[in-house]
Amino acid sequence: MPTTQDLLQNAGHSSQESEFFNPMPPGYVPGRHKYVVVVGTVMSGLGKGIFSSSLAKLLKDKGLRIAPIKMEGYLNIDSGTLNPYRHGEVFVLDDGLETDMDLGTYERMLDQNLTKDNYTTSGQVYRTVLDKERGGGYLGRDVQMIPHVTGEVKYLLRQLAVRQKADVVFVEVGGTVGDHENAFYIEALRQLAFEEGEGAVCFVALTYVIEPPALGEQKSKAAQLGLKKLMEAGVQPHMIAVRAQNAVQDAARQKIAMFSNVPVDRVFSMHDRASIYTIPDAMRHAGLDREVLTMLRLHGRVNQAMEDEAREQWAGFVRKLISPRKFKTKIGITGKYASLRDAYASIDKALEHCGAHLSSEIDVAWIDTTKFPPAPEVVAEQLRGFNAVIVPGGFGVRGTESKIACVQHCRENRIPYLGICLGFQMAVIEFARHVCNLEGAGSTEFDRETKHPVIDILPEQKKIEGLGGNMRLGAQDVAIKADTLAAFLFAERHQGTEAPRNQGPIPSMPRSLDASVPILIHERFRHRYEVDPKYIEQLEAAGLIFSGRHPQQPIMQVLELPRPVHPYFVAAQFHPELTSRPLRPQPMFMGLVAAAIAHAHPDVPAAQISERWLPFVQPEPAAV
Ligand code: GLN
Repeated sequence: MPTTQDLLQNAGHSSQESEFFNPMPPGYVPGRHKYVVVVGTVMSGLGKGIFSSSLAKLLKDKGLRIAPIKMEGYLNIDSGTLNPYRHGEVFVLDDGLETDMDLGTYERMLDQNLTKDNYTTSGQVYRTVLDKERGGGYLGRDVQMIPHVTGEVKYLLRQLAVRQKADVVFVEVGGTVGDHENAFYIEALRQLAFEEGEGAVCFVALTYVIEPPALGEQKSKAAQLGLKKLMEAGVQPHMIAVRAQNAVQDAARQKIAMFSNVPVDRVFSMHDRASIYTIPDAMRHAGLDREVLTMLRLHGRVNQAMEDEAREQWAGFVRKLISPRKFKTKIGITGKYASLRDAYASIDKALEHCGAHLSSEIDVAWIDTTKFPPAPEVVAEQLRGFNAVIVPGGFGVRGTESKIACVQHCRENRIPYLGICLGFQMAVIEFARHVCNLEGAGSTEFDRETKHPVIDILPEQKKIEGLGGNMRLGAQDVAIKADTLAAFLFAERHQGTEAPRNQGPIPSMPRSLDASVPILIHERFRHRYEVDPKYIEQLEAAGLIFSGRHPQQPIMQVLELPRPVHPYFVAAQFHPELTSRPLRPQPMFMGLVAAAIAHAHPDVPAAQISERWLPFVQPEPAAV
């Protein structure tokens, strides 16, 4: 009689030989890769991604290789067509995949660039299975949720482990336990734990403790019921993270422990905190990282020296984050999704990183440009007291005239300005209209008949019809012109390491910033329209500088106004916010925040604000 392990070993792609079906990707070594699975109970939106990425960070800091994956329940193939108002921002990866904003949380927390392998949806899983079925891949069998769809999920996870040489794969299941649409993921993960055996898979359940004001105490019943639902699906959690407004009291933790068979020291209070970046430390204090190492038998793979260094760097950032700030600035962000912060999550985070590094409290104010006319006096009133303005990415005509009026106000009144994607295009239109006197200049996105289409659809896009999957997406090279503000901002990029952007060790700030060298940077795009090359000469003759371009084609990617015409006026056709990291804040945002501080505190000498980030401060020459 073959044993369970024998059957598992032999159960390959076909499900004819036994009832076990666990297709293994080439090169998979059982026991080599471990898994942490994070599921949510009670309700969605509890911050599974934050929990999972924080725990993953603690393990990464110990020298372990981490591969996170978000498994979405919805049928969309990617997040490209989702409305950011409903679902939060669309996050774009280097390889062009449009994902959920949670991938941004992982990239920032782990300081690691992710790929399409780190994200999937039910739609993608079903598509693979159906394509395989059409290709005759199931040897005449009836194709079923179990084992074929679940088999595909297990295959994806193991493939990710092999491809990214992961010590630990962090699996975040979208939605809540009990949803129809994620049930097959949970079943697949249950099977994975069975197949991989003891000490290979650690299940973490997030839950929520309610604190009704009328009762004044924490109630754990909903949490208990939610956890029970998970156990009904055959999954025994090993660890529980309890979300709550206030620190979870022992009584509630004990009840939850007792009803779910989880020792109380593995029931972690994940109450609301001012910044998510304090969560990794809180977890370490609660000992969760060591619990996971023990459960997954990973103590032997820890690199202590690496952990010490990573901890010190992170602690330095958290100290800046929580200490009182020297400066105070108010930065306005225009956008038609202004009522929902999640729609601009990465911008919000980029500002949080820069505010900490430059010691400025940043009051982020949202400006809904659909709510006021583009009249100069109205705009001046709307922007009163702002030390900087950001016009972020966006689609469609609504509110654009008022955005253009905001850009004009910033340009004429020397208010620091950062334009992102649509905000780059708005700046070109504003400059064309008011400086080049091209009356009626506009974008064909808003008006096909516009008199001067300074912004027009990309030639390569003209051929493609319909929505979804037809944008210029993902990371592209940008050649930065020497002796420009952009060259000054990105100066670190050509000093020292050859490591690709946002990878490898954190560079220590060089003391000399040489802006006289052309630089190649790599940034992420998501757009259909661009500056029509036939207007470039005219715009430049009038004083606009295109300081970043595609290395070969006439695609304009960064623009700026020269100093001292304007202290800080810069815009990018790409999305700089997507690559800001706590320990690697994005240069265009650093420059903006530094300029905003100078605007808010005109009496403070620039050198006291920042020697590095204010373009008009000459950094000390490097000691040779
Ligand atoms: N709507 C503009 C375009 O498609 C800008 C896109 C954006 O801001 N992401 O080019």
